Amino acid sequence: MKSVVIHAEGNICVEERPEPQLKHDDDVKVRVVSSGLCGSDIPRIFAKGAHFYPITLGHEFSGYIQEMGKSVTDLATGDAVACVPLLPCFDCPECRKQYFSLCKRYQFVGSRSDGGNAEYVVVRRANLIRLPEKMAIEDGAFIEPITVGLHAFHLAGGCADKNVVIVGAGTIGLLAMQCALALGAKSVTAIDINPDKLALAKSLGATHAFNSRELSAAQILENLTDNRFDQLILETAGAPQTVSLAIEIAGPRAQLALVGTLHNDLTLTATVFGQILRKELTILGSWMNYSGPWPGEEWVTATRLLTEKRLTLEPLIAHRGGPESYAQAVQALNGTPMQGKILLKLD
Ligand SMILES: [Zn+2]
Ligand SMILES: [Zn+2]
Repeated sequence: MKSVVIHAEGNICVEERPEPQLKHDDDVKVRVVSSGLCGSDIPRIFAKGAHFYPITLGHEFSGYIQEMGKSVTDLATGDAVACVPLLPCFDCPECRKQYFSLCKRYQFVGSRSDGGNAEYVVVRRANLIRLPEKMAIEDGAFIEPITVGLHAFHLAGGCADKNVVIVGAGTIGLLAMQCALALGAKSVTAIDINPDKLALAKSLGATHAFNSRELSAAQILENLTDNRFDQLILETAGAPQTVSLAIEIAGPRAQLALVGTLHNDLTLTATVFGQILRKELTILGSWMNYSGPWPGEEWVTATRLLTEKRLTLEPLIAHRGGPESYAQAVQALNGTPMQGKILLKLD
């Protein structure tokens, strides 16, 4: 089968690999249709960040069931499925409390085992959710990144009737923004430094869009005066400056959900730190996208919103193509962040 394989030197090759075989009773073999590149894959490709090489990445994929182990009784051959990449141990104290994202004895499809950037992949039953027939199969590749924002909403007790502010209008931010609109947020504000992303946010329904390179924190705060109560801020950019900005623009008793991971140290001035106290902010750390019962309502909601066609995905896609075209598009990133989703299509 064709497989997009990453070698330690940052080489992305399309190779012929043997088809994976079922090994456990709960294994499921999936014929992959669509698989998205994730921001977290960039260091796995370009910075020796994978657990082994050569590796087939891909943890945001959808496809059809080809074959199943004998203990899988709730799925059928030909069913459309999407990958739920984490495999927690289901047994540790964290797992027993259904804090699956916090499990320390986990496997992860497309990082600790081969993933979906190939014609076929074998995963455990727990690593799949079934997709409704009415849903477009390609959209299934977006479920995982959609659930990242939904998990933050979950931890924050929902986003309905809140003034949601999304800091960072990348893929995760723009998906979270659209989910917030679909789930009854009172207003949705997007903040970024890229005017194109802000224009896109506006066209996708953002109530406000602010460029934090052009406006100071004080000016953004001023513009948010009418939406300053019942705020839920999602920091998805993952930069020290944007974390600091999120604190500065927060309204009284706002919730601040930190979603983006930092690659540089964060230093807060005493004044900015003091605002956490003075505004009585609630800071929420959000890690991955799982809750109980496994894999969590985030996955149910993402599937529902996609099936109901409540989310616009097309403008978020920067490139889609077969293995060779995909490999070229990824190689061309050369370690820089994606500007839109790169999708691998297999058929
Ligand atoms: Zn991902
Ligand atoms: Zn566990």
